[in-house]
Amino acid sequence: MEHVTAGNSFAALAYLVAGVCFILALRGLSSPATSQRGNRFGMIGMAIAVVTTLVTHIPMQGVGLVLEGPQGTVAATGPLFERIDLIAVLEILAAIGLGAVIGIVTARRIAMTAMPQLVAAFHSLVGLAAVLVAVAAYLNPMAFGIAQMVIPMIGDPFAVINPVSKVEMGLGAAIGAITFSGSVIAFLKLNGNMSGKPILLPARHAINLAVLATILLLVAQFAHTQDGWPFWVLLALSFVIGFLLIIPIGGADMPVVVSMLNSYSGWAAAAMGFTLHNTAMIITGALVGSSGAILSYIMCRAMNRSFLSVIAGGFGAEAASGGGEAKEQRPWKRGSADDAAFLMQQAEQVIIVPGYGMAVAQAQHVLREMADKLKEHGVRVKYAIHPVAGRMPGHMNVLLAEANVPYDEVFELEDINSEFAQTDVAFVIGANDVTNPAAKTDKSSPIYGMPVLDVEKAKTVLFIKRSMGGVGYAGVDNDVFYMDNTMMLLADAKKMVEEIVKALD
Ligand code: NDP
Repeated sequence: MEHVTAGNSFAALAYLVAGVCFILALRGLSSPATSQRGNRFGMIGMAIAVVTTLVTHIPMQGVGLVLEGPQGTVAATGPLFERIDLIAVLEILAAIGLGAVIGIVTARRIAMTAMPQLVAAFHSLVGLAAVLVAVAAYLNPMAFGIAQMVIPMIGDPFAVINPVSKVEMGLGAAIGAITFSGSVIAFLKLNGNMSGKPILLPARHAINLAVLATILLLVAQFAHTQDGWPFWVLLALSFVIGFLLIIPIGGADMPVVVSMLNSYSGWAAAAMGFTLHNTAMIITGALVGSSGAILSYIMCRAMNRSFLSVIAGGFGAEAASGGGEAKEQRPWKRGSADDAAFLMQQAEQVIIVPGYGMAVAQAQHVLREMADKLKEHGVRVKYAIHPVAGRMPGHMNVLLAEANVPYDEVFELEDINSEFAQTDVAFVIGANDVTNPAAKTDKSSPIYGMPVLDVEKAKTVLFIKRSMGGVGYAGVDNDVFYMDNTMMLLADAKKMVEEIVKALD
């Protein structure tokens, strides 16, 4: 097999173009208005990178004779010429075809609300791929061009792997394994196969630090000796630490975890890019790694949590009431679609606060219809988006964009929060945690410290949810339900908004 290197200048140039496409993709994805263009750049970049890698790494097969010298000695052993290894090419094409079919079917079928699980599942595959590449490179280093063959006076020839490659392989395998097992746990938690509550082991910080330190020592030992045992042990420990790092993280910290795992998967790919001497992998891995790290930082800031406290875990361990009294003993007001339509028609400004429930009900299209009707009545309509509303970063923006809500009506938390006090109606549709004032006042609440939308400051709050019993992701009650200026609209979000639209007619 040919060395796995991007050896010629054509490949280097193509990888550079792919890298530029990825940067343009990230730039485009920074705003809903340019996100489709960004996605297209990403697809073009990936197509260039994949085709270049395939074309420069066509598997070859040696063909020829072993020539015998005098008295049975071997005069020449190398192949006389090389030809394309058709079976290997077919295997590669079959793998690409299978992956493409699985990718297309999954992407078409997946519900928008299940996106975070899907992203976690994809990250686990990136981690696993990094582990498999590291294992393959360790088992057959000559094929990867990272070793020299040494022929000793006595004994069999053996391959000596370059020390730098051993460090890259060790780190890449470790990060890949952590990403894999961590992403599997994140998937199980987000998919509801495992409780979202943190699982706290005694002395977990000491255990985690000790395991991480041992992994680093094993990488050093592997780089020093090339023995098999440190490599396999560090791989096993990395799978275990990925599991241990994610089980104590619960509830509202999950978005940060998903973006952190995204970052890890990027670094694993970059480390493997060095091992494979593949520039495209290094560039892509570094872009994914750094953008994931920046996103994690931004999300931590949005939830007023430090990155270290997220990693340390334990958030939401106690089942907090967050709202004081038992909910059924507190009075609340129920309203109808007609009431809601009447109140909003009279309003000067309505701020819509969408959340996870809007996504579940797929109410975004009819919501835009409602906003259009209100605008016809001369009402000013704005949308307030909390950075962690829904179940993934940008969840609400994507749904509103899908429903053709104008971008200039959509505002981030910090830009609109001060406006609630001068707003007639805050229309909360399937959001809960992101409006919970306990985050500002109740130190015992698991969401204490998270910036929230000040909906309670509006003259009237219209709150759509299906029942008084249902809680949000963090599992806490919300005082806004019981306020004098709140009217609960209990129904499926889509049905309720459809009725409001009828009432507005
Ligand atoms: P929440 O999960 O807090 O609340 C969702 C609300 O929607 C509930 O009140 C629920 O009540 C209601 N609801 C559910 N289905 C429907 C329906 N069909 N029709 C009407 N209402 C419905 O959502 P938020 O968006 O306010 O907050 C997001 C939470 O998710 C935060 O805690 C965040 O940390 C977490 N999270 C965010 C991620 C992200 O990246 N954005 C990722 C993972 C977690 P009821 O059942 O009574 O209808």
